Amino acid sequence: MAAAAAVAAKGPRRGRRASADTKAVPAPAGRTAALAPAEIEEVFRRFAAANPEPVGELHYINAFTLLVAVVLSAQATDAGVNKATPALFALADTPARMVALGEERVRDLIKTIGLYRGKARNLIALSQRLLAAHGGKVPRSREALEELPGVGRKTANVVLNIAFGEATIAVDTHLFRVSNRIPLAPGRTPLAVELGLEAVVPTSYKLHAHHWLILHGRYICKARKPDCWRCLIDDICRFTPKTPPPGEGRAPAR
Ligand code: SF4
Repeated sequence: MAAAAAVAAKGPRRGRRASADTKAVPAPAGRTAALAPAEIEEVFRRFAAANPEPVGELHYINAFTLLVAVVLSAQATDAGVNKATPALFALADTPARMVALGEERVRDLIKTIGLYRGKARNLIALSQRLLAAHGGKVPRSREALEELPGVGRKTANVVLNIAFGEATIAVDTHLFRVSNRIPLAPGRTPLAVELGLEAVVPTSYKLHAHHWLILHGRYICKARKPDCWRCLIDDICRFTPKTPPPGEGRAPAR
């Protein structure tokens, strides 16, 4: 089973909640200038050396189930989604099977995931749309993906990257934080960070950039207290104060 890491977000369409992609986000405190190009190259060189083929953590079995998993992961953990999806995918691994399963049954299968009622409704609606407009296939087009119920820019970026090998950068909460902390491409919104990263991440690292940064944010550069003492880019990152090893005093600001 392949895997992917991502969090879905909705676009600001009629009748839908505002997207994390477009919502204004408080400016990170203590902004400093972004790293120089040579430093950014070194950051990704180290990420690539440590993890040459990064994969995320959402389980899926084809492009459709990847899309479903990413939609389900909005405001939910990948682990929580992965607990529910085996039973769902066993019954509905194509849009036609999802529609045949019906909203009530889908709702029951994903009820352990946050916002499951709306997500069940979206899964049926997006499956119907895939059947009606795309021959039951997941489209390789940002515009077509963002037209699907429950799919915003971030979800589209994840699907384009993982299912179709396009060098898109999906900005979730981890990536947003990490990019502003280091800083790689500081920005006040996920979209600003995405476009900033598009501009500064070296081409050879773009395909895997979002995976490296999401995993780094999830496990090392954590929200409340980053593990700077075991970070492989701590000598490049400009965030201060750095977190010292457990049991040691706080490191002096650099
Ligand atoms: S040094 Fe600390 S703040 Fe900087 S990227 Fe590493 S974990 Fe994050």
